[in-house]
Amino acid sequence: MQKIERDVVVIGAGASGLTAASELRKAGLTVAVLEARDRVGGRLWTDDIDGATLEIGGQWVSPDQDALIETLEDLGLDTYERYREGLNVYIGPTGEKRTFEGEIFPVAAQTEQEIVTLIEKLDALVAEIDPDQPWAHPLAKDLDEISFSRWLETQTEDEEARENIGMFIAGAMLTKPAHAFSALQALLMAASAGSFSNLVDADFILDKRVVGGLQQVPLLLAERLGDDVHLNSPVRTLRWGSDGVTAISETVEVSARFAVLAVPPILISRISYEPPLPRRQQQLHQHLSMGFVIKVHAVYSTPFWRTNGLSGTAFSPYELVHEAYDNSYHGDPRGTLVGFVADEAADGVFALNEEDRKQAILESLSHYYGDEALTPEVFYLSDWGSEEWTRGAYAASFDMGGLARYGADLRTPVGPIHFSCSDLAGKGYQHVDGAIRMGIETAAAIVERAGA
Ligand code: FAD
Repeated sequence: MQKIERDVVVIGAGASGLTAASELRKAGLTVAVLEARDRVGGRLWTDDIDGATLEIGGQWVSPDQDALIETLEDLGLDTYERYREGLNVYIGPTGEKRTFEGEIFPVAAQTEQEIVTLIEKLDALVAEIDPDQPWAHPLAKDLDEISFSRWLETQTEDEEARENIGMFIAGAMLTKPAHAFSALQALLMAASAGSFSNLVDADFILDKRVVGGLQQVPLLLAERLGDDVHLNSPVRTLRWGSDGVTAISETVEVSARFAVLAVPPILISRISYEPPLPRRQQQLHQHLSMGFVIKVHAVYSTPFWRTNGLSGTAFSPYELVHEAYDNSYHGDPRGTLVGFVADEAADGVFALNEEDRKQAILESLSHYYGDEALTPEVFYLSDWGSEEWTRGAYAASFDMGGLARYGADLRTPVGPIHFSCSDLAGKGYQHVDGAIRMGIETAAAIVERAGA
């Protein structure tokens, strides 16, 4: 067992922990980063699968994500635009396929009007929400006591309008069914991206990708930190008190003045604390849970949908794959589609055997793009639910009532222990931008306390 002393021990080498460590180092403090996995990046993971470069985790960058954009510039990483020329596809409740341009799906005029009205209402509400403290809204408690699906029912009787608006927050963002989270949680999700309109605008929210993959961010940050990043070192015990902390993993023991817990909040309770964390912390972490989504990649010899005049962008709240995009990798002449299967649909897919699972997903893709979608050269589906050090995707959100009740304490340090993760962020919540913001904020708070 290696024993070392540092000013700060950072637990978790995702984008948030590595940003915090880099900022602390810049301020002149010494750091050690302990990472459970045999790689850095956490939910950022770019891999070569059967000769195709695929982003198994996070990948898109949107124009409002200035903390991420600054980091990309600092690291010298280039971006490229998602392919989006041509028509998008929508599949309605009876299975009919329609093409469209713009953001509003080709639905009946009455439903379209309901969707537009709902977006306006949500934009107005979201404008009143401070993403850094949604619990401070005067109606926060009321909005946190009603599920998003129920709230939508109070706004419109048009089921197709509700399904479409619900999908943007439920399947597409929080990756939980709309009955499982509150209206306040939905508003936070939209406020964190600037507005509800931003969330429904795929050209905004899924704008750019990084040449070499988004995992380059943690990989390059870790490279700068050199030997201070320790892989295969899951922290099992954290001793803490007024004089500092000791983080104990299987390979390294780090004594430090401060700790940054840069892990998803659902994993905080996997560590043993001596003494135990205070009552409030022990309670609040029980009210957060990970959403669940399968990210599917299918790589074809050519991007055949482009020749058919399609952009690759496709949506349907009635399909197994509720959204899909052209995800062809920079410089690769082949065509790649990425699709998402969320929450209860994902449970159903994992109940199938491997062959049936693949078939069900490809059939859903073929409903959007035609039979050519049935025969990819490479097929890969993510399984974040089985990853011990993540346990779901994309991120964690509160149960009903949890955000108003506990939100204000989510980021409050406990003695020498600070918390940093995308799942705790306001702006950039559940995104890499939020992970980086939290890393910067946490480091600044420690630097101030350390008097560095
Ligand atoms: P994590 O990346 O989860 O890092 C936490 C680290 O802590 C991990 O490396 C973990 O191994 C480690 N750890 C946990 N417990 C311990 C322990 N006890 N000891 C030591 N180490 C420990 N975001 C976007 O901005 N754009 C996207 O397009 C996008 N798409 C996504 C698609 C998928 C499939 C997924 C899963 C996520 C996506 N996200 C996206 C979200 C984004 O990836 C995350 O918000 C972000 O990467 C989280 O960073 P983090 O550092 O806060 O947490």
